[in-house]
Amino acid sequence: MTTVTAYATPAAKAPFAKTTIERREVGPKDVRIDIAYAGICHSDIHTGRDEWGAATYPLVPGHEIAGTVAEIGAEVTTHQVGDRVGVGCLVNSCRECEHCQQGLEQYCLGKAIGTYNSTDRDGTPTYGGYSQQIVVDEHFVLHIPDALPLDQAAPLLCAGITMFSPLNHWQAGPGKKVAIVGLGGLGHMGVKIAAAMGAEVSVLSQTMSKADDGKKFGAQHYYATSDPETLTKLRGTFDLIINTVSATLPMGRYLSLLKLDGTLVNVGAPSEPLEVPVGVLMGLRRSWAGSGIGGIPETQQMLDFCAEHGLGAEIETISGEQINEAWDRVVDSDVRYRFVIDTSTF
Ligand code: NAP
Ligand code: ZN
Repeated sequence: MTTVTAYATPAAKAPFAKTTIERREVGPKDVRIDIAYAGICHSDIHTGRDEWGAATYPLVPGHEIAGTVAEIGAEVTTHQVGDRVGVGCLVNSCRECEHCQQGLEQYCLGKAIGTYNSTDRDGTPTYGGYSQQIVVDEHFVLHIPDALPLDQAAPLLCAGITMFSPLNHWQAGPGKKVAIVGLGGLGHMGVKIAAAMGAEVSVLSQTMSKADDGKKFGAQHYYATSDPETLTKLRGTFDLIINTVSATLPMGRYLSLLKLDGTLVNVGAPSEPLEVPVGVLMGLRRSWAGSGIGGIPETQQMLDFCAEHGLGAEIETISGEQINEAWDRVVDSDVRYRFVIDTSTF
């Protein structure tokens, strides 16, 4: 075991404090990573504040990890010491089921192991990226292309892939009208990626306060949902809507913005159920879907795509001592557009 410094929350709604955790020794297929940066995802907050239930403490969140390889196991073939690498939401899966075989490890029919708040194969709790090192099976370690700075790359490991996967699956591209609901961590990457794919992108934000940024990220249209006219005016407009909002929304009104055969994909994961009046689905053969992160091959595809198109995350870098304040700001929609923890401050 190796003792490393980390930030942990000891209980739901308790503040973070600096502590130490143990990392396993590097096994034959393991990679030890010196973590440089860890993004703060709203899922960290839902989990840490026990809004989804099933949180275990102490909790060391963080599933947007970027760093360099410090050590490799004897059988590792895909990474070398010094490589720039990333780890997202998964650190293991069964590797045998039909979904794992297709590279859809996030939909593993056996047991996918989350980067934190999960139980590892050896029965120990998994601890995430708010720490100085992590040891991960090589299969779940991604290559970060040289064109992407590590700090801007960290948020791609969750926010980036969570948007890339549905945009890819539902074929965002030229001729498609795509709306992104919520311009936070996920939303701003969604705008950048959908625009780079060639789609006509709209943002639906609560206010117009971030309209200039949205346009800079590649949106052609920007609307404030606080204006009661907006959702009425836009009925029947979009082929694809990705809802990134972390709170409940009146889904019927958002679904009505879809064209014939359009799809609204929920990636936002509020703690309360969402309701849908089914008539809105029947009215124009609309679909309401969900999508969870992405598998390992698609995550590498996303990183390569972002490198090719120069798409890093817009970040505000913070120290370990600023995590509590940053969480409050994320909840207040006061994030521009991802907080990234610099672990050298630990
Ligand atoms: P975030 O940075 O907080 O962004 C969410 C955005 O939603 C906010 O910036 C805000 O944008 C909007 N919003 C917040 N509260 C709202 C409200 N009450 N009404 C309307 N809009 C509101 O969060 P994130 O990290 O992007 O994560 C978003 C959600 O996705 C979370 O629920 C998270 O758990 C989930 N998630 C899911 C997956 C997956 O695999 N499906 C992966 C990662 C995260 P505006 O200010 O522009 O309105
Ligand atoms: Zn996340």
